[in-house]
This record gives sequence, structure tokens and C-alpha cells, in this order.
Amino acid sequence: MNPNTPRTTFTEPAREIPVLMSTDIVVVGGGTTGPFAAISAARQGKHVVMIERFGSLGGNLTLGLNTKPSGALLGGLPLEIWNLARSAGGAGDDYMALTKTGGVKIASPCDPEIMKILLTRLCVDAGVQILFETFVSAPIIEGGAITGVIVESKAGRHVINAKVVIDCSADGDMAAKANAPFVMGSGGSEETMQPVSMYFTMSHVDLQRLADWSRTSDDIPARAIPDTAEGLGYGLWLTGFNQSLRKFQEETGIKLQRDNITLKTANGLMYVNGTRVQDVDIFSPAEFSAAIVECYRQIEGVAKFLRERVPGFEHAGIGQISGALGVRETRHVLGEYTLTGDDTLQGHSFADSIAADASALDIHDPKGGDVDFRGLPPYEIPYRCMVPLKIEQLLIAGRAISADHTAHARSRNMPACMATGQAAGIAAAVAIDEGVTVRKVPVAKVQAILRSLDMPLHASEIRDDKARSAQETIQA
Ligand SMILES: Cc1cc2nc3c(=O)[nH]c(=O)nc-3n(C[C@H](O)[C@H](O)[C@H](O)COP(=O)(O)OP(=O)(O)OC[C@H]3O[C@@H](n4cnc5c(N)ncnc54)[C@H](O)[C@@H]3O)c2cc1C
Repeated sequence: MNPNTPRTTFTEPAREIPVLMSTDIVVVGGGTTGPFAAISAARQGKHVVMIERFGSLGGNLTLGLNTKPSGALLGGLPLEIWNLARSAGGAGDDYMALTKTGGVKIASPCDPEIMKILLTRLCVDAGVQILFETFVSAPIIEGGAITGVIVESKAGRHVINAKVVIDCSADGDMAAKANAPFVMGSGGSEETMQPVSMYFTMSHVDLQRLADWSRTSDDIPARAIPDTAEGLGYGLWLTGFNQSLRKFQEETGIKLQRDNITLKTANGLMYVNGTRVQDVDIFSPAEFSAAIVECYRQIEGVAKFLRERVPGFEHAGIGQISGALGVRETRHVLGEYTLTGDDTLQGHSFADSIAADASALDIHDPKGGDVDFRGLPPYEIPYRCMVPLKIEQLLIAGRAISADHTAHARSRNMPACMATGQAAGIAAAVAIDEGVTVRKVPVAKVQAILRSLDMPLHASEIRDDKARSAQETIQA
């Protein structure tokens, strides 16, 4: 190569890749969704390998410091894990948040470190083989079906054979690399996507002082303020600061990118959602990195704002910055059915529903406006949303399921991601047992197993106590 004319491509020599292991089911990504898929499949007696590029489980839920499912957890493994977290001191009581448009039932935030421990333990107890610090770089496609994946680690490049692959990478990495069709964000000629953000925590916040001030402030339009000091540990949730943020920016010249900030507590620590970068192509390494750099700049500004302008933060400091950029929206992998905004707003019923979900609608304006956060009645997620077109033996669970931009604003929430993970794990196991493809799986058998786990499948099945919380959101 001439050093003065850098090459634009390089032909990698073909090489033989050793097989690391063979398994029934590979789960790609051990984030919010992956562990639910892996545990569910392993509990059905299947050998499962879950591959995660980072060194801990939970993804956006834990590493991303999100902690709070925006909607009640209605049953099955998600509720089981939340109840375990509660008994370990890693979550509190669910609460009702008041917003400009009504009430939103919110599952208690969790302590992300306790959640990492729980997810890991439950995976190990179920017999899941976890491969940490391993990146899945490509699917292996033979005869139109996925038959394994190629992974990269410090040990080099390896193959893992699988009968079924569940893509829980959030970005539909396996589907895209297998040339399955997908839509980015809203699709269309003016393709837009919800912006990216980076959470951080603040320590040494005087929660009581903040709660007392918030009760009387007209700058906090959306709130949940517990009555007891004990309740503050997991139950304080505040969204607003619009007027004071505007004033702060005018006075200091510090440019922040959001109209509002959301604060929430978990285990007595304050979690801050206050950064935003729009129009990021997260598949461009340089743009992705620039977004992280910009979030770090904004984090300094937001922390300064809180310390200088919000009672209770006078002695606070930045505790921890999320180890990963929070990405809200990328690919929606086109499936046998695409969930529409209308389906989720009107609560359409589906014979092949694998979960009733009570997640809020949560749209961060791709053009930079305010957040549309609304409680709505439960809706249903059909199995077909997880079955991609064109590729056999691949299931999609979590953020990248087949949903349009508006439907995704509900299905991207963590209760829905966990529910699709659970259903995908069970469906993969049933398909193997029945000797059929995941496209042809007898959905009634998957539904029967889900029902045995006390997972409501249809909005009409939600029991009285759960319906009450869903009913309250109807008034929103
Ligand atoms: C800033 C922000 C705030 C949010 N707030 C809320 C909220 O308050 N409530 C709510 O319910 N939802 C919220 N959401 C949405 C929700 O957190 C996500 O949509 C959800 O967690 C996505 O789950 P997932 O499993 O699809 O993805 P993730 O949790 O991101 O998991 C994907 C996992 O796959 C791994 N991975 C990816 N690619 C590969 C690969 N090729 N090889 C190996 N591993 C790979 C990743 O490391 C990660 O662990 C928020 C999202 C963001 C970004």
C-alpha cells in the first residue's frame, strides 16, 4: 500500500473459524430483555447461551441507570424478579405519578447493582451459559435460516451453533446483518428518531428538602412525592424545571438541550435524566462517540444547574455516569405483523397476543420539543411482531420488535421489553420441542405456558387489583 494514499477498503483473507460451542438457543444481548428470554427458555429445559458485549447484565435497565419500568409489571418473570428485588431491598412500592394529562402507574425503580446480581443469579440458577465481554459480530445464515452466530472476544473469533437465535441486541443487529427488512425510526422520507441521552446520578441530595420544595413549586408539573421519609428512597419522581432551566441558560450562557429534567430516586440515590442529543446516527462510530462527548458536556451543566438552583442539591455531587449511551430508537425489524400506534392507543385485541402491557406512551420529540409522557389503558403485543420477515429461526425481542414509531413509544418501555423477552424464550423452546420453525410455532402452547406463569395476555384478562392501576391510567 502507498502510505500517501490511504486505502478505502481491505479484503480480509478467508479463514476457518473454530466452533466454541453448540447450543439449543443463543440469546444476543444480556440487557433489559435478554436475561428474560434466556431464563424463560432455560426453565423450559433448553440449553441457552446468552452473549453480552459488556461485563454485566441489564443493559439500559442497570448499566444505563434507567432503573424504572414506566408501567406496572403485570405478571410472569418480570413481576417475579421485581418481587425478589423488593425482598432484597432493591426496589420499593409501585406508585402513581401525576402528569399534566393524568396519572401514570409506575413500577418501583430498582437498585441497578442489586438488579445486576439478581439477573446474574437467576440466569446461573436456570443453567444459562453467559458469555460476558463477547461481541456477536454476525449471524450465520444457511438456506434462509440462522444456524448460529460469529462472536469476537479476547480469545479471537469463534462460531456458536444454535437451533434458534433470539436477537435482544436492541438494534436488531442479527436481523439487519441477515438482510431481514427493517425501518429506521419513523421511516419515510423524513425519517426521524427519538434522541439519545445519558443518565447520571447525584449523591448527597437532601431528599426531604427537595420534596418539601417540590410540593409548593409551580415549575414541577409532573410528580410523585411520597408522604413518608422512608418512601423517598424509591418513590420520589419529578419532571419539570422548565422555567428555571430556561432562566439558568439565559443567565449563564450554558446551552442545555432539553426543556425539562426528570429526577427519580432508587435506594436513596438521585438519578438524573437531563441530557439529549438529536439526529445521531448511532451506527456511525464517530457520531456515536461525539454524542457521548456532548452528553458529558451537558452532564456538567445539568449538575451545576441542580446544585445552584434547586433546593436540596446544595451539597450534592455527581455520583456515577452511565457506562453506556442511552439509545431510544433505531431499527424496527419488520415482522409478520407491525404493531401500529392505533393498536396501542385503541387497545386492539390479538388472538396471538403474548403480553398485555401497561407501559406509558413516552415520546421524546425527535425535533427537540417537550416529552409526551402519558398513561394509557393496556394494549396487546402479538407474537407475530417478534417473527422477522425472510429469515427463519430468528426471533426479535425488546426495543427492535416490529412496531411503528408511535407503537414503539409504548413497546420500547421496559415492561414490554421484558415481556417480549419472556415470550420469545418460551416460543423458542416450544418450537424446538415441537420440531417446527419459530414462524410456525403453535402460539396456543406458548400462551398456555405464559398463563401458567400468571402473565396476562389480553387487556381484558388483567385481574381486578391490576386493572385498578390500569383503570387509573385510563383517566390520563
Ligand atoms: C435515556 C433513556 C431513558 C429511558 N427511560 C425509560 C423509563 O423511564 N422507563 C422505561 O420503561 N423505559 C425507558 N427507556 C426505554 C428502555 O430503557 C429501553 O427501550 C429498554 O431498556 C431496551 O431494552 P433492550 O433489552 O431492547 O435493550 P438494552 O437494555 O440496551 O439491551 C441490549 C443489550 O444487548 C447488548 N448488545 C447489543 N449488541 C450486541 C452485540 N452485537 N453483541 C453482544 N451484545 C450486544 C448490549 O450491550 C445490551 O446489554 C429509556 C431509554 C433511554 C435511552
